[in-house]
Amino acid sequence: MELNKDIDQFDIPLAKRIYLNNPNSTFLKKLLIFSPFLFLLFSFVGLRFIRNVELIPLNNLKFQGERNHDARILGHLPYNETPKEKLVLIEPNIEVHMDMRDSLLKLREEAKKDGIYLVFLSGYRSINLQNDIFYSLKSIRNQQAAERARVSAPPGYSEHSTGFAIDIGDATQRETDFETEFENTDAFRWLIKNAAKFHFKLSFNKDNKYIDYEPWHWRYEGSIEALKVFESANRKS
Ligand SMILES: [Zn+2]
Repeated sequence: MELNKDIDQFDIPLAKRIYLNNPNSTFLKKLLIFSPFLFLLFSFVGLRFIRNVELIPLNNLKFQGERNHDARILGHLPYNETPKEKLVLIEPNIEVHMDMRDSLLKLREEAKKDGIYLVFLSGYRSINLQNDIFYSLKSIRNQQAAERARVSAPPGYSEHSTGFAIDIGDATQRETDFETEFENTDAFRWLIKNAAKFHFKLSFNKDNKYIDYEPWHWRYEGSIEALKVFESANRKS
């Protein structure tokens, strides 16, 4: 009893005096009053920060999604340049992706057994070479980019940069090299009938609305890497 009385007498006046007169305690009081608001403010800022961090990959995904829709330039999809160490020389001046080498050579061997002589015209092309082809031919032929793009991919947008594309001609009818008339050769007829067995597919058929029909241009889809590379093209074409 004595103790309680002492506390009452001691505590209340002291509390009044110290807490009201001390400027620090006024600040503390205000801090206490505002603390819920401060807490809310910090939570909000914190949440925004966390959400931003989480949103970055989401935005990237969305961006990639949009890229997949709008990534075409003049009808061509973007392709990375295959690293040098994945390329193999199959004959002078023709390099291809190592994954497709065996299949490609087998394709030519099998054709030969049927009396068809295939000739490889162009395999891997670096982005620099594609740059030269696209811009020099465009100016030589006095063509605008869109016209040129119907027959040649802009640099960074060629299937040839992947090492998985091959242009094929008929060794007995070289005048049809890179010409639509190649479709009338025995080589083309043989390819249409047999290329799929070796995992080759015609890239730009007659239905392609952006790019001219290229009966000589085939791409390899016989490895996971190749399938990944052409996933977008197969989804959209
Ligand atoms: Zn080609």
